Amino acid sequence: MNAIRHDFRSDTVTKPSAGMRAAMASAEVGDDVFGDDPTVNRLEQRMAGMLGKDAALLVPSGTMSNLLALMSHCGRGDEFIAGQDAHCYKYEAGGAAVLGSIQPQPIAHQADGTMALSDIEAAIKGGDVHFATTRLIALENTFGGRVLPVDYMMAVAGIAERHGLGLHLDGARAFNACMALGVDIGDFVASFDTVSICLSKGLGAPVGSVLVGRQDLIDTARRHRKMLGGGLRQSGILAAAGLYALEHNVARLAEDHRRAKALAEGLARHEALRVTQPHTNIVWVDMDEAVEERLTSFLEQQGVGISGRYGKQRWVTHLDVTDGDVEQALGLVERFFA
Ligand SMILES: *Cc1c(COP(=O)(O)O)cnc(C)c1O
Repeated sequence: MNAIRHDFRSDTVTKPSAGMRAAMASAEVGDDVFGDDPTVNRLEQRMAGMLGKDAALLVPSGTMSNLLALMSHCGRGDEFIAGQDAHCYKYEAGGAAVLGSIQPQPIAHQADGTMALSDIEAAIKGGDVHFATTRLIALENTFGGRVLPVDYMMAVAGIAERHGLGLHLDGARAFNACMALGVDIGDFVASFDTVSICLSKGLGAPVGSVLVGRQDLIDTARRHRKMLGGGLRQSGILAAAGLYALEHNVARLAEDHRRAKALAEGLARHEALRVTQPHTNIVWVDMDEAVEERLTSFLEQQGVGISGRYGKQRWVTHLDVTDGDVEQALGLVERFFA
């Protein structure tokens, strides 16, 4: 495979900018396991403040952040409800079951990506000894780049409250959702007990996620983070990248969304491509499987990286994708069909 020059595979591929590296290099640090790292403490306080929650915890990855949330809400033999395609159910190597002894209750998605409220309600189990005990509902927003309505999240929060369940948001790309909706992140996450945010995706940090939420849950998560080997030492170097990202890389997500739209419009000109209009920075394109295989490999040869499989392509815009990258990629797609 040729070197990738236009990388649309994921927003995780962003590299720290010169400014971010400078902030990392000059970060004041201490031993975070002792609670001594001033930069980590600053990031955690800043995130808790922005989201309107009690506390926050810097962790190595979004996967660990979700796992810590599940393990804080649920004990051995408890159950969480999540979408069939939710990251915390499908894409985290079964960590909740393996490491938390927590049973997932997956629910089918409707065409718009939400779970039917009646399906959620029907899956909640009472005290019968046959059942695992339902403790938590986990939502994800954005979901595959799609923004799920705030009304939907509020309705699910109502169900959680009526049944005395916890509510977790996998908000890996919550800032993208807020940008698309024009809402404040604090309002967006108001009804959740815990929220996981990725610093290493559209925000452009090299490493890190933050779990934010109620004090008792974050205290438990801190203990479990140590148990899982995620207690880091001079992690202020990473927190500095996160603080820099919050300062410089949130408002600019609008550019990624604009470029995703441009990309979608350009791709939609080709009859063979069925393009879903993007809400944020992810463009989904359906086509015949044979076309997809040839197009993906052609683009690969030409230095364009995308995720393609089984007749579906995913194009992701991010900090390191320019207008020029979009133009050149569209030009190559043009050439392929010509
Ligand atoms: C990327 C992602 C995660 C996991 O983050 P990692 O840092 O890759 O472990 C969790 N949830 C969603 C929705 C994601 O997109």
